[in-house]
Amino acid sequence: MTYDLPPALPPTATPADYSRIHFDPAAVPAKRIVGLLACQRDPLLRSLNSRVVAARPASDAPLAQKGRDRKKKGSEASSAATSAAPSGAATPTGKLWEVELEDTVIFPEGGGQPWDTGVLRVRDANGSEHAFAVEACVRRGLDAVHRVRVPEGSSVDFATLEGADAVAEVHWDRRRDHMVTHTAQHLLSAVLDAKGLPTLSWGMGQFPSIDAPYVELPRGLTWAEAQAAEEECNAHIREGLKVWIDVTMQGDNGEVRDDERAGDVEREFRGIPKDYTGGVIRHCNITGVDRNACCGTQCPDLSHVGFLHVLPPGTPHLSDTPSSTTPTRLYFVAGPRAIAHLQHASRELSRAGQAVNVGRNDLHERVAKIEANRFEQAEGAKAMKGELARLVADAAAGTPGSVVALHRAEKATHDFDFLSAVAGAWCDARSADTIVLTSAVPAAPPALLLVQSKDHDRAKAVFDAVKAALAGSDKARVKGGGARGRYMAKVDGKWGKGEAEALERVLAELRA
Ligand SMILES: [Zn+2]
Repeated sequence: MTYDLPPALPPTATPADYSRIHFDPAAVPAKRIVGLLACQRDPLLRSLNSRVVAARPASDAPLAQKGRDRKKKGSEASSAATSAAPSGAATPTGKLWEVELEDTVIFPEGGGQPWDTGVLRVRDANGSEHAFAVEACVRRGLDAVHRVRVPEGSSVDFATLEGADAVAEVHWDRRRDHMVTHTAQHLLSAVLDAKGLPTLSWGMGQFPSIDAPYVELPRGLTWAEAQAAEEECNAHIREGLKVWIDVTMQGDNGEVRDDERAGDVEREFRGIPKDYTGGVIRHCNITGVDRNACCGTQCPDLSHVGFLHVLPPGTPHLSDTPSSTTPTRLYFVAGPRAIAHLQHASRELSRAGQAVNVGRNDLHERVAKIEANRFEQAEGAKAMKGELARLVADAAAGTPGSVVALHRAEKATHDFDFLSAVAGAWCDARSADTIVLTSAVPAAPPALLLVQSKDHDRAKAVFDAVKAALAGSDKARVKGGGARGRYMAKVDGKWGKGEAEALERVLAELRA
């Protein structure tokens, strides 16, 4: 049997059997612990009349949302421009207070779901109502602690607020984004788990990010696998499967001992936080699909999710072997975030098409062609540079002197690869001598220096002398080194007449 927890919450569209309490709550204190908060018993409730139980000044140290905004370098889902956050928002002023309420619709973060924000309404001594921003809400032990911003000069004295009536209102767009994504994650994890792909972790950026959340799986997926998972999720969403929460006392291992369980589909049991003791255990159920320990706010049925899209994985299109056999993130979007994310993706697709002057439908083919051409041209340029390097070396092969200098000022050959190719070919013809190659292009600093000889000691001596001459009084100007007869350095700053003359002078000394 299940029990009611009085007082009843204001009615919403959430079914009465959403939150099923499997123990006699007679001994449950009036101040609701995390696990039994109004937001966890009715996820559609947006506002609640409650009472202040405690209020104290908060430390100003910024809170870190628990590791959720991390971005994986090079992931397909990360993008600098995908946040819809308003830029230039004013920094809030005023003192931060920590407020605990008897009950609240503002969810403290947990289970991977970021905290809610919202508004706290209280009255001043004259009975006038004032609204304060709830900037965050965190769980401390069994308590939900609201971080409330109180502007300077407010007529509400938070130090005397204990026992006062208060209204908590949740920032609904933010909650809906987090909640729908969290329910979608349970659904996707359950579908993948049934295919032998357990979820190792999951994460989402907080509202208003439109970055794709992820589930981390033991390996990468093929496109076909990802698409199959997406289709299965969307079939369940279309069915509008019912979601409900079983609440049991902590200490009896979370078991529900009656017939109301979702069947034998329990997926995993995530650890309860160490500082959460004496509370309850919540199992989130999706009819016939999933049963999983969870403390988040979950949609009462899957129709709230609307749509789920699994982003194509990093495995090449049409490949039937996943390219990764180690833990890999699979990105997805659902609900309102899916709409914003896909709108952004669509616009980016159009921009990319415009950048290469082709319609969106032909974009992939065009880009593949451009890439093939680019590769062919790069290979051609490499071959030509190799041939040019040999010609340049041949032309300098007859230059007299034990130390021969060669200067270049061509952007196309302003790189150490080219200079090395010239030096290598030259040294093959002049095994007893040393070549000093410099390259300077005003538009592409720094200048380059390469010294090479088959006489390794001689190469080092020449390099050290040239380096000192070019550096002058600014030792940090020339950086580089080498070994076994080949030395390379970059020369910062302008390359002009002074540098050419300094080089000329030191070479004359070396030849003497
Ligand atoms: Zn969860």
